[in-house]
Amino acid sequence: MSEGFFRKLGKAVMKNPVPEPMPVPPKPDRVLPLADMLTELVKVPDAVWGKYAFSREILRNRIVAEEKERLDEKARECGYAYADQLVEKYRTRIPSEIANKMGLVISYPNMPSDTSRVTFAEFVEPNKVMLYKDNLDKADEQLKDREVQQILGLMQVYQLLLAHEIFHFIEVRDAKTIFTQTEKLDLWSVKPFHNRSTIRCLGEIAGMAFAQRLMGLKFSPFVMDVFFVYGYSKEVATILYDEIMAIE
Ligand SMILES: [Zn+2]
Repeated sequence: MSEGFFRKLGKAVMKNPVPEPMPVPPKPDRVLPLADMLTELVKVPDAVWGKYAFSREILRNRIVAEEKERLDEKARECGYAYADQLVEKYRTRIPSEIANKMGLVISYPNMPSDTSRVTFAEFVEPNKVMLYKDNLDKADEQLKDREVQQILGLMQVYQLLLAHEIFHFIEVRDAKTIFTQTEKLDLWSVKPFHNRSTIRCLGEIAGMAFAQRLMGLKFSPFVMDVFFVYGYSKEVATILYDEIMAIE
């Protein structure tokens, strides 16, 4: 891991703070044990994860709180529905088997070529999924901790990441009908022109719900944001944790 990557990771995580002022200012030199954070994070309700996802949305200031709640719920329902549909069709809950049957090609590059964004896995059109090995190795290392294992269950991290990316593949495939792509926000309109944009975080919310339902997890896979960041920086992971726990 180059120092450049580390610094960029920190900056990228810090770049998108919760828009509202936080009641407890983060203490940058604070480091909490991973197991302690996960214990609390698995109890975080879905609605809070929705707010967390929207706090990273570029269009967040154009959507009122009630509308965000409605969109969050609909995105989750969309993810659940697609998971059920796929299980019905392919008769398996194992993401790698489903990916295989859908014709997805999975590769394991060491790190993303563009390290200015924090990304642990990626879908590349039309049918590629990249799972970054450096991240998976760190995740495996962290999963050796008995307590962490107990909280997360028998977690196959690459399957979870893959499940989420399968959803992004479906989003592209079903772009004309899937909620996360058809739901759009009017950015501007000057007759007869108008510019409508998808709301990116809806794909993230739905992708997490999809992965959760598919794998039968008792907690939101958003929990894993802190888990993965912890592999790169315990400090940044703790800041992220404090931010999530401060969401009301
Ligand atoms: Zn995603």
